[in-house]
Amino acid sequence: MANLMLIGGERVASVTDEMFDVQDPATEEVIGQAPMGNEEDARRAVAAATNAFREWRKATAHDRTHLLHEIAHKIRARTEELATLMTREGGKPLVENRDELGWCADCFDYYAELQRNTRGRVIPSVESSQLAMVLKEPYGVVAVIVPWNYPILLMTWKVAPALAAGNTVVIKPSEMTPLATLLFAEIFDHLPPGVVNIVTGYGATVGRELVISPHTQLIAFTGSFNTGREIARLAAERVKKTHLELGGKDAFIVAEDADLDVAVPGVAWAALLNAGQVCTSTERVYVQEAIAKRFTEQLIDFVRTLRLGSGLDPQTDIGPLIGDRYRQKVENHVEDARQRGANILIGGQRPPQHTRGFFYEPTVLTGVDHGHRIMREETFGPIIPIMTYRDFDQAIALANDCDYGLGANLYTNDPRKVKQYYEEVKAGTCWVNDPLTDNDAGPFGGMKFSGGARELGEEGLEAFLETKHVHWDFMQQKKSWWFPYGDNESESG
Ligand code: NAD
Repeated sequence: MANLMLIGGERVASVTDEMFDVQDPATEEVIGQAPMGNEEDARRAVAAATNAFREWRKATAHDRTHLLHEIAHKIRARTEELATLMTREGGKPLVENRDELGWCADCFDYYAELQRNTRGRVIPSVESSQLAMVLKEPYGVVAVIVPWNYPILLMTWKVAPALAAGNTVVIKPSEMTPLATLLFAEIFDHLPPGVVNIVTGYGATVGRELVISPHTQLIAFTGSFNTGREIARLAAERVKKTHLELGGKDAFIVAEDADLDVAVPGVAWAALLNAGQVCTSTERVYVQEAIAKRFTEQLIDFVRTLRLGSGLDPQTDIGPLIGDRYRQKVENHVEDARQRGANILIGGQRPPQHTRGFFYEPTVLTGVDHGHRIMREETFGPIIPIMTYRDFDQAIALANDCDYGLGANLYTNDPRKVKQYYEEVKAGTCWVNDPLTDNDAGPFGGMKFSGGARELGEEGLEAFLETKHVHWDFMQQKKSWWFPYGDNESESG
């Protein structure tokens, strides 16, 4: 059952009748198959979502509240089953997938309530017989295109507000992690048929069809910069609205007053969580030069204690990378830095004890600069490159010397530094002594190449609503300013 798609309330195979393999990145074993959806499957799903939209948009806020809370309730009831599958296909430690599902349930609860407060407004009219209203209404069919690193959470951050706002959705999961999303289809089975549809597929085929379809009104995408740019181009040609959450290259500044007993594990957590495969992973560390030696030594001692292994092992801190292609990119970045004179203080290789699986050792480097790929391009691996800075202005300039602007981090208790940091750093989220914390009520998203969308919070619901202005003359009066102008002249004359 789990490896069938969801279209119009039915669990179906692809019209291609083909399947593709899904691998466990910790063992390289094939653990399942997902339908090889194509353009026709995407079109069928969009048609089902279009049909369902007619009724779903009319559902009352009261009804939607109950249906969305029911989703949250079912996620909590099936967390172990879902989290285990997420770990098997995505590699993340089980504890992190349980957390991910907990956040998903909370997010459905949050939007179940927030949508009850959605309101337009009545504005002053230009005549006493008019009612002038600003209404908020759903777009229609929303394409939800999702990456593999937080497959259920990043789907939820779009689907929960999209449904709350009255849209219907077609979800396209990543080809690396389709299985948990297909199992998750059962969580939606109390919704009217066609409100949620799931189409799996490999590469660009399904996603591209959803983008160019004349029947999708909004493209909500999380993924890499290159794919996001291609989607933006195709959508712009059709003047279609996009909601883009793209890559990152987050900076972490450690000031001289930082408590290193907190800052060191904080930096390690921000850089190594999910083996560094978080869009807001710390990928550049800037430490004030007076404390750099002590910071680096403590960090190496801490990193040495972290355990690499299967995410199903409760002792594991860091799982594998998602695939060989992704590990090769990490290796290329480390090799580029090594050839340009960087010092690899720990790691810098595949762990010899893991002959299977896409593992890479957590790695700390110094002697890097902004000419190195590892300080400019998104690496997406368990790598901590460290540079030193002299004064805080220089730290801010280094943090901003980057194409991306997703998140940023700072450790200090100096309020002047905190204020300068959050005012001057170009990033959608600025964490202070609080790395990577999320909050359903706080908008999340990026600046610059990281895309401008905001998810979560009120902005996260607003993103799935369009504004409409209604003029209504309830007296049905003929207006003095209509044709013929000559009559008006003679009347007034
Ligand atoms: P990706 O861009 O390769 O794929 C994302 C999704 O797009 C997948 O479902 C894929 O099948 C689909 N896709 C591929 N080509 C397409 C096309 N031409 N048209 C439409 N859809 C297409 O990204 P990925 O490797 O799955 O994910 C990692 C990336 O996601 C990283 O860059 C990471 O920083 C980013 N990310 C960003 C955020 C954020 O909130 N900003 C969160 C998580 C991940």
